[in-house]
Amino acid sequence: MHKTIVFIGAGNMASAIFGGMIDGGHPAESIIATSPDDTLLTPLRERYGIRTNTDNAVAVSEADVVVLAVKPQIMCQVCEPLRDAVQDRKPLIVSVAAGLEAATLEGWLGGELAMIRCMPNTPSLVGAGASGLYANPRVSAEQRELAGELLSAVGLVEWVDDEALLNAVTAVSGSGPAYFFLFFEAMEEAGVKLGLPRETARRLALQTGFGAASMALKSEHEPAQLKRNVMSPQGSTERAIQHFEDAELRQIVEGAMQACAARAQEMA
Ligand code: NAP
Repeated sequence: MHKTIVFIGAGNMASAIFGGMIDGGHPAESIIATSPDDTLLTPLRERYGIRTNTDNAVAVSEADVVVLAVKPQIMCQVCEPLRDAVQDRKPLIVSVAAGLEAATLEGWLGGELAMIRCMPNTPSLVGAGASGLYANPRVSAEQRELAGELLSAVGLVEWVDDEALLNAVTAVSGSGPAYFFLFFEAMEEAGVKLGLPRETARRLALQTGFGAASMALKSEHEPAQLKRNVMSPQGSTERAIQHFEDAELRQIVEGAMQACAARAQEMA
């Protein structure tokens, strides 16, 4: 018997997750997505065969899992009217909202609940996400497994055992796609300065990033070893890597990620 999973908010992140679940064989009829606007729900019903509801509390009244997938700014006004339904039913709550602490969400939802916070990233929208998950002590082993299955529909799932570590997850994978986009921008620009057509430089840079990550994920070697494998003594790669090291790229990355984690903590 499949659990009933209710998505409050049927936007980009919610549809990426339930779309991935359905692709992975989860029955569409056990998924309910909500929105105040039925015109947004109609194409989702047609495309995925899921159930929908314009009334969040009615949907929650039959939920085993509630995924909170609205923007953080409106989370409080969305949660408070759900208090009675949530406290009667006590479903597992999974929040994908950036920056909102489990205790804050429990407060808005009227008291103690089994709660999982998830920090996903934008590649989740193409099924190649990386999510950090934290479960509060009220989450059972079975609920934890269920949430892991849910989020693995859009990519890699890693658990952290301290909620504060979600700020570190934000610094690595939450904001991480932007670091790589910056690097791709810089490689494209430098490729153009070396004489390549812009589109060629862009495609080569993007495919190289994709290829390097794919290779590192499949390899038994650490990235440091894979890097050394590309560097022949006195060769061109060695010259480039030495330039990065001399410019203290490692310290720059560390400083950027410290700044990111500190800002994530400020916003919580
Ligand atoms: P989104 O596409 O704007 O989706 C949110 C949806 O919630 C919208 O369709 C919105 O409808 C709907 N909504 C508004 N009020 C509602 C209500 N009272 N009841 C039910 N639904 C309501 O946003 P998103 O990008 O999916 O982000 C959702 C959450 O995921 C956010 O908390 C964000 O922090 C988190 N997240 C997203 C990403 C990402 O890659 N997108 C990454 C990390 C975290 P209207 O448009 O009509 O207002």
